[in-house]
Amino acid sequence: MNQGKHYDVVILGAGAAGLMCALIAGQNDLTVLVLEKSNKPGKKILMSGGGRCNFTNLHTSADNFLSDNPHFCKSALSRYTPWHFIEMVDKHEIPYHEKELGQLFCDRSSKDILNMLLDECSNGKVEIRLNTNVIEVDCDEKVMLQTSSGEFIAQRLVVATGGLSIPKMGGSGFGYQLAQKMNLNINPKQAALVPFIFTDHYKDLFSHLSGTAVSVEVSLPANQSAPRFRHQMLFTHRGLSGPCMLQISSYWQSGMCLQVNLLPEHDAYEELLRAKKNTPQLTLLQWFSQFIAKNPAQAITTHEFPDWHDQPLQNLNTESISTIAQLLNAWQLKPSGTEGYRTAEVTLGGVDTTQLSSKTMACLSQPNVYFIGEVVDVTGHLGGFNFQWAWASGNAAAQAMIESKF
Ligand SMILES: Cc1cc2nc3c(=O)[nH]c(=O)nc-3n(C[C@H](O)[C@H](O)[C@H](O)COP(=O)(O)OP(=O)(O)OC[C@H]3O[C@@H](n4cnc5c(N)ncnc54)[C@H](O)[C@@H]3O)c2cc1C
Repeated sequence: MNQGKHYDVVILGAGAAGLMCALIAGQNDLTVLVLEKSNKPGKKILMSGGGRCNFTNLHTSADNFLSDNPHFCKSALSRYTPWHFIEMVDKHEIPYHEKELGQLFCDRSSKDILNMLLDECSNGKVEIRLNTNVIEVDCDEKVMLQTSSGEFIAQRLVVATGGLSIPKMGGSGFGYQLAQKMNLNINPKQAALVPFIFTDHYKDLFSHLSGTAVSVEVSLPANQSAPRFRHQMLFTHRGLSGPCMLQISSYWQSGMCLQVNLLPEHDAYEELLRAKKNTPQLTLLQWFSQFIAKNPAQAITTHEFPDWHDQPLQNLNTESISTIAQLLNAWQLKPSGTEGYRTAEVTLGGVDTTQLSSKTMACLSQPNVYFIGEVVDVTGHLGGFNFQWAWASGNAAAQAMIESKF
């Protein structure tokens, strides 16, 4: 394999992290080739944020990420902040807005972000080869690649092949396999930011309410270190989704119960006692419908309290009120699983960060190879954090390659 074309840098994967790394390296006079296995670059960028790409979050901090080493992401995030990305977005006059909680979305379409990255890549004379399968990689002193588009030789290799989620959109295990071949450890992987499915008696209830959303707080009694998330919960044909379920899925493990507080703003026991005194004729359903929409209120009370839902509050004794309140403030639900990689937004786990430099993303045992983006064991919460990690880790690797003399 000595006949190939030479580049300073070959990047595997034309996704968010790969394109960011490519454009910075290219604009700083490195010759860059990006190899992409699918027929288009940035497919996940296009489908992200419901087609409007939630491209960053103004409140990004290390607390928004899961990793075996929660400190690893700090260095890269501090050197490429949401404001750096916004500067590029502004330069391209892309209209955007803050939806909520610091989440920035395109006003028009995710295409704006992808086109911006591709424009910047072409400013840096980055070459992107699509439909290219890597057949063999050899990373000794130089990087030698045998691919379906020919042979290439580079000084540096950047692995930006993403995670396993949504195989149809490019999700692949290639980066993990390559890391394993290099004797790197892979921390356990799991589909994350993913809806839950139920096969028990709740399936019919949730399916009946499919499309309805309620505001709740969710936590995991079996994992006290997991944060609580307060947001919308969406009922689906197969179970539960919506922002707060997607968030908690990153902390959930098989067999765990979800604890859903249907009245996160209220102490249900106190409220029920007060209502029994002040409005004794009100039925349990009428009382509950004051807090959440009639449909879910009716379906949930009928399902959970068949003997009590149509009873006036005056008929409920203290023990029944305590049982009802306990369920409303701490509903225990045991998913049978998640929708898996088919619909997951990200892959939790990945290349063990103890084997990478947090400053450069280079592999400590093989300094001419870098791992960036989702393939690394750094996973963001929902809300633009995963792209911010892709931009920041891509920048870290690019800056390191620019600074190193080769
Ligand atoms: C439906 C959906 C919506 C999302 N919405 C958001 C959002 O709004 N905000 C947010 O922050 N995050 C969002 N995410 C997560 C975000 O898309 C990812 O975290 C991010 O794209 C990861 O960037 P990456 O470059 O590491 O991987 P990717 O963007 O997945 O790019 C990896 C690239 O590598 C290519 N590849 C794979 N294997 C090979 C190989 N062997 N050779 C060559 N190329 C290869 C793939 O085809 C792909 O193009 C969403 C994800 C999904 C699935």
